Amino acid sequence: MTAVLKVENLVKTFGGIKAVNGVSFEVAPGELKALIGPNGAGKSTCFNMLMGQLPASSGQVFLNGENITGRPPRDIWRRGVGRTFQITGTYQSMTVAENVQMALMSHHRRLFSVFSYAYKLYREEALSLLEIVGMADQADRACAVLAYGDLKRLELAIALANAPTLLLMDEPTAGMAPKERIRLMQLTADIVQERGVSVLFTEHDMDVVFAHAHHIMVLNRGELIADGTAAEVRNNAHVQEVYLGGGTLFGQENTGA
Ligand code: ADP
Ligand code: MG
Repeated sequence: MTAVLKVENLVKTFGGIKAVNGVSFEVAPGELKALIGPNGAGKSTCFNMLMGQLPASSGQVFLNGENITGRPPRDIWRRGVGRTFQITGTYQSMTVAENVQMALMSHHRRLFSVFSYAYKLYREEALSLLEIVGMADQADRACAVLAYGDLKRLELAIALANAPTLLLMDEPTAGMAPKERIRLMQLTADIVQERGVSVLFTEHDMDVVFAHAHHIMVLNRGELIADGTAAEVRNNAHVQEVYLGGGTLFGQENTGA
């Protein structure tokens, strides 16, 4: 089966720093895959290259077998790659439903000359996406007043409006309370299962990663040092070394034992 995402020898240098240094991996259809690693490991830089926000220094990215290296973000988005941001990207002055409607209009390539148009178009479709993420009851609230966790769920609905085959989520649960994190990732896992979407996500909470990811990759100083199942990654000596250095090992306090 063709991988949804195939990354070959991806490199990004900033001045003399190799932020991403020869990264290769695949994401299979319907796979929920985590990319973890310490701060500064190169996770966001990887995501930015996959989404076309940053040009790669070298290497290639294939989406469903098609080489998308160097394509602009809009092009990649059109090909079915959705993204949620480390910092939420919603229009604060609009309501929850309007934000999703805007995304739907963009997906359906409807240009709107009269802004009020947005209030009517795709309302039903927006509501059903909001239903999926558990936000239907807040459809008519202004984004500006939403709790952080709700904004993150809205962002997921906005990403789904593009009917993505691949979702890239860079620290989707950053800033959320532990219970909310688990809820958002459970929701993501359900969506993966129901819609057959592939998801690549970064996350620093190891409980969330190990509870939900089908496969886990570990990035350290720009290089992938592991790519496998939870058990394989947990037992990888190099990974243990990297995380022991950080003080915790997959949710357990490092007591030095
Ligand atoms: P992560 O998301 O894993 O925390 P990043 O991808 O944000 O890591 O950063 C990887 C490395 O690249 C870091 O050393 C960071 O300082 C550097 N870096 C990231 N973006 C830039 C940039 N635009 N210019 C220069 N250096 C950058
Ligand atoms: Mg980051």
